[in-house]
Amino acid sequence: MAELVYAYGSGPYAARLGGSTPPLGTMTNNKIRIIPLGGVEEIGRNMTVVEYFPDGDIVVIDAGLQFPDENTPGIDYILPNPAYLEKRKNKIRALVLSHGHLDHIGGVPYLMKQLGNPIIYTTRLTKAMVLKRQEEFPNAPHLEIREIQSGKQIKLSRALGLGFFEITHSIPDAIGTIVKTPLGNIIYPGDAKIEHDKSGKLIGIKQYVELGEKKNLALLLESTNSEKAGFSISEETVSKNLEQIFKKANGRIIVGTFASQIERIVRMIEIAERLNKKVIIDGFSMKVNLEISKQLGLFRPKKDILISVKEIGNYPENKIFAVCTGSQGEEYAALMRIAGNKHAHIRLHEGDTVILSSSIIPGNEKNIQNLKDNLSRQGAKIIHYEVADIHASGHAYSEELKLITQMLKPKFFIPVHGYYFMLKTNADLALSVGIPKKNIAVPQNNGAIIEIDKNGIKTLKEKAPASYVMVDGLGVGDVKEIVMRDRQMLAQDGIFVIIAAVDSQKGEIKGSPDIISRGFVYLKESQDLLKSVRYIIKEIVKECGQMHPINVSLIKDRIRERIGNFLFKKTKRRPMVLPVVIEF
Ligand SMILES: [Zn+2]
Repeated sequence: MAELVYAYGSGPYAARLGGSTPPLGTMTNNKIRIIPLGGVEEIGRNMTVVEYFPDGDIVVIDAGLQFPDENTPGIDYILPNPAYLEKRKNKIRALVLSHGHLDHIGGVPYLMKQLGNPIIYTTRLTKAMVLKRQEEFPNAPHLEIREIQSGKQIKLSRALGLGFFEITHSIPDAIGTIVKTPLGNIIYPGDAKIEHDKSGKLIGIKQYVELGEKKNLALLLESTNSEKAGFSISEETVSKNLEQIFKKANGRIIVGTFASQIERIVRMIEIAERLNKKVIIDGFSMKVNLEISKQLGLFRPKKDILISVKEIGNYPENKIFAVCTGSQGEEYAALMRIAGNKHAHIRLHEGDTVILSSSIIPGNEKNIQNLKDNLSRQGAKIIHYEVADIHASGHAYSEELKLITQMLKPKFFIPVHGYYFMLKTNADLALSVGIPKKNIAVPQNNGAIIEIDKNGIKTLKEKAPASYVMVDGLGVGDVKEIVMRDRQMLAQDGIFVIIAAVDSQKGEIKGSPDIISRGFVYLKESQDLLKSVRYIIKEIVKECGQMHPINVSLIKDRIRERIGNFLFKKTKRRPMVLPVVIEF
């Protein structure tokens, strides 16, 4: 965090905010393509291509992943589609990683090979997190990572260079990127917010103001919180409020937050030092992240401040607090085990306080409701972000976004990161601070090719491939559409298995076919339905049984089709029909 403080709307730089457009100078036949390969139809799997012509040199910014949703059951992760880059991999001059969150670095182990293993430029903590994760992929190519910090300049090719500037996010060592081109700078702050202190003074904006003096061609600005009015809560406010709660509580305190919220966890450990309490960290990824930060010297906890969860019984209840994962109601995370009374060492009781220091990620509402129910059944008092300022987003709210745009004074504006509506809202914010409409390009979808040349900015008709690339177990991208369709079908309408024994000599069915169903209908209550199904199967076998030898695959096809249609007619549902025909 920078120490310089400027009041918004006054101070030495205020007069220069907003307004002037940098001259474009030598824009002849040169052009730049900006292609978001992921992150503009979702929150997650961020990856952006900056390509300069005539040279064709490329800088890739971020390689994130996205967690699956109800449309992709059984999938571990979704990745940006690297096909556009794969074709041009000998032109990739750099992969820049803006910070250590998985929606920015999670794709690295899976995508580097397709990208031709370019040199990675990133900060110290992000590098350590990437390398830690890479340990789980012994067959992935060896990564060449060069450390950068704000102010560092790198020449990549005849035309392209990189620069970096300080930004504030919820993880330390996050950095803003400048791709320097002969046409001007392409600026990507990444995930960023503007901090402010109690009196409303903005903290850490000097670098933006200085950068605003340069020739900035385009700003790629995140849209995660573009719909939120005003300014985000500052991390300082959050820590003050947490400290108050810690001070007052008599029972034990359990704080649930994201493992990636390193900054806040470190601040909580500092609070514990001040209040003379011990801290338990419970959650694998949280421990790993803290250990890495400690090794890099990003924080230096006092000796013995961190204790293991096994030692919880050795201290008075008001002398400890636990920080754990699972604030989204994740099934196996520590907080969920505590809520379900299944934790090996922590049992809640009346008088304990659980602080959910995180927001609700869309899609997790039900799980979180469930979590809160179970925690309060144990007698705990729950404090969440809607009742107290105990969580701050790491992403700029609308006023901050406007301010960043005003300070950087780009000629062109491209909103990134978020669903279309969020991007559009961010574009409207840019419009409201003076970026002309014709200079704004909202990516319509992942793979949109946005081109900037002497005539201005436009989106090409042509698109880069952007279909889902999925990680399923150890395989990447091999989850065919048909597998996904099957999983959706199973999830929606269940499965209906028919086991029929067929006498291959006589061409008729032996006995009555067995029927097993899961997630479709309760069989005991559907005897009429089953009787009809058995009758149809007998008929099918009789029809097909005329042939010698009998054609089993034909029998199976007909069963699948006719039983499928019959079940739909009767129940309006389409379970997966799985015929098993045994010949003897
Ligand atoms: Zn982030």
